[in-house]
Amino acid sequence: MSELINVEKIFGENVFTMNKMKERLPRDAYKEVKRVIEKGEELSLETADIVAKAMKDWAVEKGATHFSHWFQPLTGITAEKHDSFITHPDEEGKMLMEFSGKELIKGEPDASSFPSGGLRTTFEARGYTAWDITSPAFIKEAATGPILCVPTAFCSYTGEALDKKTPLLRSMEAISEQALRIVHLFGNKEAKRVTPSVGAEQEYFLVDQKKALLREDLLFAGRTLFGAPAPKGQELEDHYFGVIRERIGAYMRDLNEELWKLGVTAKTQHNEAAPAQHELAPIYETANIAADHNQIVMETMKRVAAYHGLRCLLHEKPFAGVNGSGKHNNWSITTDNGMNLLDPGETPNENIQFLLVLACIMKAVDTHADLLRQSAADVGNDHRLGANEAPPAIISIFLGEQLEDVVSQLVETGVASNLIEGDVMKTGVSTIPDFEKDATDRNRTSPFAFTGNKFEFRMVGSSDSIGSPNTILNAIVAEAFCEAADRLEGAEDFEREVHDLIKEYMTKHQRIIFNGDGYSEEWVKEAERRGLPNISSMVESIESLTTDKSVKLFERFGIFTRAELLSRQEVLYETYAKTIHIEALTMIEMASKQIIPAVTNYTKTLADTVIAVSQAGAEAVVQKELLVEVSNLLKETRDALAALKEAEVKAVSLPRGKEQASFYKEVVMKCMENLRIPADKLEMLVDKRIWPFPTYADLLFEI
Ligand code: ADP
Ligand code: MG
Repeated sequence: MSELINVEKIFGENVFTMNKMKERLPRDAYKEVKRVIEKGEELSLETADIVAKAMKDWAVEKGATHFSHWFQPLTGITAEKHDSFITHPDEEGKMLMEFSGKELIKGEPDASSFPSGGLRTTFEARGYTAWDITSPAFIKEAATGPILCVPTAFCSYTGEALDKKTPLLRSMEAISEQALRIVHLFGNKEAKRVTPSVGAEQEYFLVDQKKALLREDLLFAGRTLFGAPAPKGQELEDHYFGVIRERIGAYMRDLNEELWKLGVTAKTQHNEAAPAQHELAPIYETANIAADHNQIVMETMKRVAAYHGLRCLLHEKPFAGVNGSGKHNNWSITTDNGMNLLDPGETPNENIQFLLVLACIMKAVDTHADLLRQSAADVGNDHRLGANEAPPAIISIFLGEQLEDVVSQLVETGVASNLIEGDVMKTGVSTIPDFEKDATDRNRTSPFAFTGNKFEFRMVGSSDSIGSPNTILNAIVAEAFCEAADRLEGAEDFEREVHDLIKEYMTKHQRIIFNGDGYSEEWVKEAERRGLPNISSMVESIESLTTDKSVKLFERFGIFTRAELLSRQEVLYETYAKTIHIEALTMIEMASKQIIPAVTNYTKTLADTVIAVSQAGAEAVVQKELLVEVSNLLKETRDALAALKEAEVKAVSLPRGKEQASFYKEVVMKCMENLRIPADKLEMLVDKRIWPFPTYADLLFEI
């Protein structure tokens, strides 16, 4: 066992927190920073210089030699370029470490190689990173030595967003402004800001690093592209919440320590449903910080894994036939004087403000189901959403029995006088106290579930940034609040208008509520009957970004311009095409250079055996049958390989964009599946000793 961890001491050790600023900054500078963070004003260059110096001194004390503007381009992961603090030495050759306010506030990375979807061509390569003062700077300890990381937004020369953070920050301002109108109407006049809070539960797989490196698919695609199922999967349900293995436990311990040092509130850890699958959940925080922290979580998971001889797989579906990984995005909205707009209180049926908020969210989710679906689309997530795995691709809201009943009463009669109460739960054991049950059970199949005082958006993919889903959530709810506030502010009889509005919204959008089994065939049919969209793939979902409805929404609240939306659309099509392209090439490589040669050798061994056995005077029935079966599958593999190669050649010749992405999805993916089938059958037949890479059993069970 290693040394004890003093959590209180190490927590936030590598973060330039408000506390550290208070200690290190002159009073006035500190006050200015605080005001800027709280009110969203701009920092003076003078103060920026003071902050930069204090930040640099702190970082240098902790051994940092470099700083980096840390940003989140449209690749979905983070980017950083390191600059050292060193300056030109003076005449005597003495050098002073420096970091100016300008360097803190603004960076100019050579941005031509980040995806921009045509917003910035290579000849106008300029892009700027701008300090997000609301997310604290931190020191990343990597093999490069400690690096001071400054969270930033990334924009083009003309101010267009080139990242996932800028729109998120814009959407946070939009929802704050609109939600404030609602709470002011209900008498909370002191509230000055409303903030979305997010807690992102992160699922991941851990496999042995050495074994993973023997598989090109894991190396290049992050998921297995071949692989027959192991004899045991997750059917015994013995992994979920199971005892954590020693090697994994040691990993989790180090992971927590690293995250705590970085101010990430890693709270919960457990084994997930699939073998080798685990989860980490932090305590929720302000949406943009949660988004930054989730990136830190993903990055740290991978880094710590390497130290333990493990490889962390964040792909949504690393293994066929066992559960994939998602990221439950828990979301709520709270005023700066502590009121959670999603808290129903003891008697939600009487809580008019809550019912209005709920009605607005029903309206928002129903009106923009396509956008919400799109926000959770990434290439890997296509293997989960709409593909016989949790959750389905159809957006619906789970409210639980109690709230659904309240909504029904309101829709039917305009009043909700009755409230289904939670029972007392009896354990039947005298020494264990009985306790009050929650009024609702959980529904694990719903993509958007109300869980007490927050909504849990369960569609997000495990490898994806939570930037987009939260941008969309904030935007669509801001719009619904805005429309409600427009009516209510002008109403002669407020009580009456609010009552009518709740009834109207709930009636019109009740179809979005579904409390049943989201995995069932019946739900697919029922949803169709209700007219709810069922968008089963990323490629199909991309168009929703630029419908008139979407452009109107985003432009109205200054979250995206039409040009920004078009550029994102282009990036998404390209990302899809490029990802499948890499997967196809990887399969071609593995089939041509590993599987086919290994199986060819095996047929030679079998043929030699048949001859030897026959010559020895015995009948080689089994050996012959096996030889025929293997040879046939080998031919099928070769034919499927040829078809995939041909499709791949065609795919790269197509014009980029929707047409190419669709071809990859419809044709190339199909060819990939066709190649996998005979190859996986061969894996089940041939001698394990000659199979050219580790199997599912090796990867999932032998850690
Ligand atoms: P469960 O999903 O099992 O209900 P928890 O209630 O503990 O688990 O929460 C899961 C995640 O939701 C955690 O990250 C938690 O911090 C976060 N969370 C809890 N309350 C809120 C809230 N009001 N707003 C946003 N996230 C929240
Ligand atoms: Mg949860």
